[in-house]
Amino acid sequence: MIPAAFEYYRPKDMAGVLSILEEHGDDARVMAGGHSLIPMMKLRMADVGHLIDLQDVEGMSEIDISGNTIRIGAMVTQHDIIDHHALSAAAPILREAALQIADPQVRYMGTVGGNVANGDPGNDMPGLMQCLDATFHLTGPDGEHTVAARDFYEAAYMTAREDDQVLTAVSMPKPAGGHAYEKQKRKIGDYATAAAAALIVKDGFTCASASIAMTNLSDTPVYSEAAGAALVGTSVDDAAVGAAVAAMLGDIDPTEDNRGPIAFKKHVAGVILRRAIERAWSRA
Ligand SMILES: Cc1cc2nc3c(=O)[nH]c(=O)nc-3n(C[C@H](O)[C@H](O)[C@H](O)COP(=O)(O)OP(=O)(O)OC[C@H]3O[C@@H](n4cnc5c(N)ncnc54)[C@H](O)[C@@H]3O)c2cc1C
Repeated sequence: MIPAAFEYYRPKDMAGVLSILEEHGDDARVMAGGHSLIPMMKLRMADVGHLIDLQDVEGMSEIDISGNTIRIGAMVTQHDIIDHHALSAAAPILREAALQIADPQVRYMGTVGGNVANGDPGNDMPGLMQCLDATFHLTGPDGEHTVAARDFYEAAYMTAREDDQVLTAVSMPKPAGGHAYEKQKRKIGDYATAAAAALIVKDGFTCASASIAMTNLSDTPVYSEAAGAALVGTSVDDAAVGAAVAAMLGDIDPTEDNRGPIAFKKHVAGVILRRAIERAWSRA
């Protein structure tokens, strides 16, 4: 299918973007890589009268690592993340997760900002950002705002971002400890049946802290505080991993679809989380 007719804009700066958003309200939408939005428009699931292309807007394509903080511009692509050596050294989980998104062609276009702003429960970066305790930076007519990734997602395609706000960057503390991003998908290029992001800090032989988030197992990403807590103070033995998996299963709420029935998704979620914990622990 082809999309309905729309007006196309390509402003050079953020002031230009904000003025078009202000003029057209929810009839206007920004586009980053277009690899989620354009298919939605072609399927007539998104009706966008005024399409604002962000490609020429300056200042959103940088990756900055200073001290303990990482800042990634919203227009940084998934390929940029994979290709950035300093970022891969500072936060290897970002590269590990980005490599599991779609395929190389999509990753050359798909952006961090589009992936986290989209609100699709199938996107991999929202759960990853919750695991990393990232902060989302938004700009709008009232200036700059920040929202924690863990507070951003309200329901499928519903987020804390207002229609007249643009997501400009994500920032996060440099992650410590061992990491793992595990994803089960039906084939290369597919969205997750279940995915798990895990970050574990070790103190001697004991787990000092653990952060766990799950993807595509509810209408939002699921940061499972209880799953992380089940590991803290343990040696991450089989009983502790079982307790973490049980806690995570209490937090997710999958629905049946073409990736399988609910019982299957819960089973896969458990297997994937167990793998993620074991790998993160072995790297901690
Ligand atoms: C075949 C295929 C397979 C895929 N598989 C996966 C997968 O396995 N995992 C995965 O995570 N993704 C997958 N994707 C999605 C891909 O990663 C997208 O590119 C990504 O989700 C959205 O990024 P984008 O830059 O293309 O955003 P766009 O499509 O341009 O925008 C998506 C939405 O976010 C909004 N938006 C974009 N940028 C901003 C911003 N800066 N501020 C505010 N709102 C903004 C847009 O208005 C739109 O509503 C797949 C896509 C395809 C086509």
